[in-house]
Amino acid sequence: MVTTIHGTPVVPGLACAPAQVAVSDVSEEALRRYGDGGHADDAEALGAYDAAVEAVAEGFRTKAAAADGATAGVLTASAGLAADRGLRAAVRKNLRAGQPLLTAVDHAVEQFATVFAGMGGLMAERVTDLRDIRTRIVARLVGEPEPGVTLPATPVVLVAADLAPADTAGLDPRVVVALVTERGGPTSHTAIIARQLAIPCVVGAPGVVDAAAGHTLLVDGAAGTVELDPDPASAASRVRADAEERAALAAWSGPGRTADGHPVSLLANVADPASAVAAAAGPVQGVGLFRTELGFLDRATEPSPEEQAQVYADVLAPFSASARPVVVRTLDAGSDKPIAFATHPDEENPALGVRGLRLSFTDHGLLERQLDAVAAAAERTGVPTRVMAPMVATVDEARDFAAAVRSRGLQAGVMVEVPSAALLADRMLAEVDFLSIGTNDLTQYTMAADRMCSDLAHLTDPWQPAVLQLVALTAAAGQRAAKPVGVCGEAAADPLLACVLVGLGVTSLSMAVAAVRAVGARLGGVTLEQCQEMARAALAAPTPAAAREAARAVA
Ligand code: PEP
Ligand code: MG
Repeated sequence: MVTTIHGTPVVPGLACAPAQVAVSDVSEEALRRYGDGGHADDAEALGAYDAAVEAVAEGFRTKAAAADGATAGVLTASAGLAADRGLRAAVRKNLRAGQPLLTAVDHAVEQFATVFAGMGGLMAERVTDLRDIRTRIVARLVGEPEPGVTLPATPVVLVAADLAPADTAGLDPRVVVALVTERGGPTSHTAIIARQLAIPCVVGAPGVVDAAAGHTLLVDGAAGTVELDPDPASAASRVRADAEERAALAAWSGPGRTADGHPVSLLANVADPASAVAAAAGPVQGVGLFRTELGFLDRATEPSPEEQAQVYADVLAPFSASARPVVVRTLDAGSDKPIAFATHPDEENPALGVRGLRLSFTDHGLLERQLDAVAAAAERTGVPTRVMAPMVATVDEARDFAAAVRSRGLQAGVMVEVPSAALLADRMLAEVDFLSIGTNDLTQYTMAADRMCSDLAHLTDPWQPAVLQLVALTAAAGQRAAKPVGVCGEAAADPLLACVLVGLGVTSLSMAVAAVRAVGARLGGVTLEQCQEMARAALAAPTPAAAREAARAVA
């Protein structure tokens, strides 16, 4: 009998290859051998620490030089974190208190990890990076190779407890044919990288690290399953059929519609001019989400309205010739996206704090200046530009925001990320021109489960019945008001869920451009009536897994 491990499906596709388990720790034997390091004094121990840190940082810098864009940025940041002066000071203090070097490093890293975790959001996510750096430093000290991913030349399924950015940066999809992790949720770092590389991915697969070594794995990224040692002939034929299906996808060129011609706008999520250029070259009808805050994560001070206008115009420009519309989201700073010039520091609970539109309650000028800049960019490029606000909770917020946007001659919408906005969708729509459902946050707030918390991946699943109910409410309100209601969270990129969303009445789906063809092709294979039947079946299901199964059975 074949053993199957069930996890959370992230990137659809089938792949079969021997497992390659990423080493995540230094061997016990090496640690025992190193003992207290035998350093003559604190200064000598600190010298050994400095040398190890420099080697680790240099490793990151070398990888960064070979990487591009965001990946290079992540690796450079890791090099900086390894060589952090504060971390070094904590190690020195521990050494002076009489701790042996390995203990001193361990305690210093844990002290920082506690602080990072307490800050929540993106900083909390860096705890994984910090512990990865600790393991690398320890490996250097004891004279072992740095742990991580050593890849053979032949295809493998990469299996890990969790993957740090340093492990996932620059993965070659010809060698790593699928990714499986024991931890992590659908919005984790691993998931995002896998989606970019378009390799089948399953996260949150319990026990996979212990089970996988020495076995061949068949990974089904759509079903979220990992089969150990499947029958080779049937696995090969399933992978072949999947590859043919994926090749057919590559030929899909839009526009988005169901098999019976019901139109569904397929849109791109973008963050900066480079992603806008890539999106404009894809089969999309425009941009459904321009995350403006992502361009300013490293800015200490607010960019001037003119500088902002230039950045926004650079993002709008690729859509100018085709006059495809772009939805600009105002700054969603705070929580997992802290921005020095906007975020309120020291919040107890940043995800429930002053983030997104809420920043304008105390600093109205921030929103006003951004809207001026968006209006200027729209004027310059001639692109049909709409503006929406993140984290809207009340109808008054929607009304005030719409007035501010419309006074600049632009259409206004709000995101549905807070359950209150979904429950009040009719009243929200009376105030704005459109709604856009942010399923990432809507799921987080509906299920009261941090989207970054890998232990809660089963809750942060947009197939949860409660989340689907709120999407249904919102879409139905849109149909009553005859106004567009889109989805721009990661849920839109799941081809099966996309059909369900359309069946619920959603009018547009916005996603990473790499996901568009798979969604478009899947939608083109079902009628609107089938989508509606899938939606009814998913809504009636008791669990996310049952909802997926029910929708798949109809399709
Ligand atoms: C969402 O919450 O679904 C969303 C699209 O916004 P972000 O992921 O940027 O929070
Ligand atoms: Mg959001």
